[in-house]
Amino acid sequence: DLLVVGSANADLVVGVERRPAAGETVLGSDLTVHPGGKGANQAVAAGRLGARTALLARVGDDAHGRLLLDSQRAAGVDTAGVLVGGAPTGVALITVDPSGDNSIVVSPGANARLTPDDVRAAAELLGRARVVSVQLEIPLGTVAEVARTLPPGARLVLNPSPPAPLPADVLAACDPLVVNEHEARYILGETGEAGEAGETGETGETGEGPEEWARALLALGPRSVVITLGAQGALVAEDGADAVRVASPRVGAVDTTGAGDAFTAALAWRLGLGEPLAAAAAFAVRVGAAAVTREGAQESFPTAQEVGAL
Ligand code: ADP
Repeated sequence: DLLVVGSANADLVVGVERRPAAGETVLGSDLTVHPGGKGANQAVAAGRLGARTALLARVGDDAHGRLLLDSQRAAGVDTAGVLVGGAPTGVALITVDPSGDNSIVVSPGANARLTPDDVRAAAELLGRARVVSVQLEIPLGTVAEVARTLPPGARLVLNPSPPAPLPADVLAACDPLVVNEHEARYILGETGEAGEAGETGETGETGEGPEEWARALLALGPRSVVITLGAQGALVAEDGADAVRVASPRVGAVDTTGAGDAFTAALAWRLGLGEPLAAAAAFAVRVGAAAVTREGAQESFPTAQEVGAL
């Protein structure tokens, strides 16, 4: 089974003509509320593909928590591991201006209360997992506990988003570490500042591209590395082997929100079925590509049939 350990947020979205200055009020469009958060997104993406998936997460005892549980169940995800209470459900307050630029305030809420103890209490759920997929919208100590208590033979898939410094033992457990270009640059320490890792492209300060990043990331300890490259697909690298490029199908991109989550969930699922990394990535780029052809995050995730039709 696939176990996703991660965040669940309600995304509250309002369109505005322009953002309010301090002390100012502006009127916005009607509010839309969407289930989101990287953990919840990954679980829904996997569930919709038909993967046997469980989610370990924490939500509040409130309407947003019920929205998130409903979306998981609609995708066929096992929600017995979703803990309820302790703080309000995590929320992302998102304003979108006419050019499509977002401003986002995240209130982690219950996500910040998913503790290492919660991981230990979920030993049965972990014990059933062949692959455990985690991200960094929950406390790092909780991620580290997952890495420590991984059942024998199970794989850890980590997407370090939002990027943060990773302890060596967590890095060493990753198989693979899944990063986009921004996260790759952050972990390689080009700036040391999340959110300021510079523009994407193949010539950063080091003048290096994804192949060199993959080699440098492998040197930090993970057993394998996957770098997602947007429309260019992905690059996979394993210790002792040459890095392999995996092309994404050409699609008309409408909204890339959640593409990385869909990619990572698909990859984790196929690894759990025993596929080699490059084959799992070849499937995952198709899932990511399908997800960018529709608006939204969870709303955009494809079924296996839709991936097949791509
Ligand atoms: P993130 O959303 O984490 O930044 P990427 O932008 O690299 O991640 O996208 C993840 C995956 O989604 C890519 O590997 C690719 O398969 C797919 N994808 C993203 N953008 C596009 C695009 N414009 N065209 C086709 N596929 C895309």
